[in-house]
Amino acid sequence: MQVLLASSNKGKLEEIADLLKNVPVEILLPKDIGLNLDVREDGETYAENARKKALAYCGASGLVTLADDTGLEVEALGGKPGLHSARFTGKADATDASRRAFLLEKLKGHPQPWRAAFRCTVVVAAPDGRLFTLDGACQGEIIPEERGANGFGYDPIFLVDGKGKTMAELTLEEKNTLSHRARAVLAARPVLLDLATE
Ligand code: IMP
Repeated sequence: MQVLLASSNKGKLEEIADLLKNVPVEILLPKDIGLNLDVREDGETYAENARKKALAYCGASGLVTLADDTGLEVEALGGKPGLHSARFTGKADATDASRRAFLLEKLKGHPQPWRAAFRCTVVVAAPDGRLFTLDGACQGEIIPEERGANGFGYDPIFLVDGKGKTMAELTLEEKNTLSHRARAVLAARPVLLDLATE
C-alpha cells in the first residue's frame, strides 16, 4: 500500500518517514506525485486542520493519506501560540528563527519556568472516506537561550521534561521516542497496518 504524507515541511517528513520505517507501506511525498495543494489551516482545532489537509491530499491523489497539525501551547501566554503557532508573528515572511524570537519577546516579564506543551494531531484519510484521528503531546518548558542544532521550529527553545535537553539537542531517533508527533504517529501505525492488510 502507498501512503501519502500531506506535508511540505522537511523536518516533519523526515520524522514521520522514520517513525513508519518498519511499517510495510511505501511512503510517498506530495512532490513525488507532483501535488502541491494550498490548504487553508483555518480550523478551530488541530484535528480540524489535520483533517482538512488529509482530505484534500487524499481526494486529489486517491491514496491513503496521513496529515498532521501541531501547536506549541505556553501556559504563561494562556495557551498561545497554539493553533496559530505558524502564523504567530503575523508576518508572511516569518522564519523558524523569527517565530522563536517573537515568542521569547512575548514571554519577557513573565516569571519562569515557562511551562509549555507541544500538541499534535494526526489524521489518516482512506480513499473510501474513513478517517482516523490520533493525538500526541509532549510536556516541557520554554528556555530563553537556544540550544541544539537538530529538529526544527521551536525545538531549540523547548526543554523536554525529564531529559535536561532541548528538543533540538536530541537526535532524530531520540525525538522520535518521545515527541508529540512520535506519539501520534506511533498510534497511527496499527491503523496503517490494518488498512494495508485489508
Ligand atoms: P504546523 O503543524 O505545520 O502548522 O506547525 C505549526 C508551527 O509549529 C510551525 O511554526 C512549526 O515550525 C512548528 N512546529 C511543528 N512541529 C514542530 C516540532 O516538532 N518542533 C518544533 N516546532 C514545531
